[in-house]
Amino acid sequence: MYRIYISIKLILTGFCILASNYIMAISNNIHLKNKIIPEALINEVGTALSYYPELAETRIEFKLKPSLKKSFMKAQPKFSSLIKSKGKREYVILISKVFKIDGMQLPLADIPKNVLIGWLGHELGHIMDYKNRNTINLIWFGIRYFFSQNHIREAERIADVYAITHQMQQYIVETKRFILNNGNFPMVYKDRIRKLYLSPDEILSLARELEGN
Ligand SMILES: [Zn+2]
Repeated sequence: MYRIYISIKLILTGFCILASNYIMAISNNIHLKNKIIPEALINEVGTALSYYPELAETRIEFKLKPSLKKSFMKAQPKFSSLIKSKGKREYVILISKVFKIDGMQLPLADIPKNVLIGWLGHELGHIMDYKNRNTINLIWFGIRYFFSQNHIREAERIADVYAITHQMQQYIVETKRFILNNGNFPMVYKDRIRKLYLSPDEILSLARELEGN
């Protein structure tokens, strides 16, 4: 009787291992404490996260999507976690597998590693900002993002400033230069970046200013 029990247990354990390997294989995600990271981006995400030790306890899922509208990455709170307290809120950073913008198509694999780290550092800056906001404020923040260019400029500046104060200025500058000096990016997109985001020179002078303090 005991032997039968052991055999059934072994078969079930074997099945569970097979099933969990299958789940890993289909999702290709690495589950760490408080973080879910696509296997393909583990090094870049790991490097960006290492600059934000305050986010160790924050739940963040980095999620690959076929393509996002008008952006390459997007940080947002998980809607279902908005009813939870600020500390327990969960976030997602959506990442396009192919960055499509005004006719241009740029696959994730063609973007240099440091540029990806800079981009992720900027998105983590948004999460630092969201973390300090209560739910009502966060919802209002989201609504204003749709309607006010001044608000977008302010939100993007805050995210960059977080990345700079977390010593990521070189990565952030590389990311901006990759966009602004790249002949493949459409002019409309570059103009949008120039209008709404800090320029590489502004980032460097801000970093020098912060170092001086
Ligand atoms: Zn942003």
